[in-house]
Amino acid sequence: SIVVTGATGQLGRLVVADLLAAGVPASGLTAVARSKEKAADLIEQGVQVAIADYDQPDTLNGVLQAGDRVLLISGNELGRRIPQHQAVIDAAKAAGVAQLAYTGIFGGPKAEFRLAADHRGTEQLILDSGLPYTFLRNNWYTEVSTTDLAGIVERGAIVNGVAADGRLATAARADYAAAAAAVLTGDGHLNTAYELSGDAAWTYGEFAAELSRQSGKPVVHRTISRAENKAMLVSVGLPEGFADVLADVDEAISNGVLAGTPGDLSRLIGRPTTPLATSIADALAKA
Ligand code: NDP
Repeated sequence: SIVVTGATGQLGRLVVADLLAAGVPASGLTAVARSKEKAADLIEQGVQVAIADYDQPDTLNGVLQAGDRVLLISGNELGRRIPQHQAVIDAAKAAGVAQLAYTGIFGGPKAEFRLAADHRGTEQLILDSGLPYTFLRNNWYTEVSTTDLAGIVERGAIVNGVAADGRLATAARADYAAAAAAVLTGDGHLNTAYELSGDAAWTYGEFAAELSRQSGKPVVHRTISRAENKAMLVSVGLPEGFADVLADVDEAISNGVLAGTPGDLSRLIGRPTTPLATSIADALAKA
């Protein structure tokens, strides 16, 4: 069976849809979810749904079988992810799965910013397990930057800690999902790490210009210092620790850690990645 964890999340849903579209029979697909209610539509489509929680390792017993091809979608609770992922890796090892794919971070062991620590640690645990792995080292989702376009247009500015020449090679969630589906259904992806990023790297100045062009309103990008950035994030309600981690990310982006365009993603999915302008148009249409 092909098993997808985090299947009721935004990325997971896209992966499951891509697998079904690729002809994987629903009966040969297991979606791991925390709640039956959230997975109701998947159950309706005939997908096998297993209820499990990374925080309760016992719930993973029997979910994975020998020979399964498994996608572990990283959890979303910073600082808790290492023990959570360890539970899935242990279950995969006990079952003897044929492939453990993992959604990590662009740069892998070279991604030294704090947000990347859980991903570096998880990759090492997977290597230590000896299981056949596929590392899907995802760059930023473009959607991370397009969640609040209406607010940005209203204020006429994007304000963050990214330097004017800091570039991001983002891609759409759908692009990363397609890559995950490709490695779960294709051959030749074992014990391989993919550095997944968009085909083009953009600056927030370019982002602002494109948003301005599409919205017809003036929008600029302004860089603030790391301390100002953290204070701004705290002022909008983020806990201090998380604000610190995000300010650290902006500094890392300023240093070019998310700027790489090796082309692994478009090669894996057999098409160009979604251009920034398209993602902005999609988000504006929904705003
Ligand atoms: P979501 O938050 O939409 O989905 C996270 C999924 O993980 C959900 O299905 C959630 O379950 C599941 N999950 C969380 N905790 C547990 C747990 N304890 N046990 C079992 N399942 C759990 O995120 P996305 O789909 O957008 O992204 C997937 C992952 O990618 C994120 O979790 C994060 O690690 C990473 N990410 C990367 C970004 C990037 O730009 N590269 C940006 C944002 C996230 P449930 O549906 O029940 O909530």
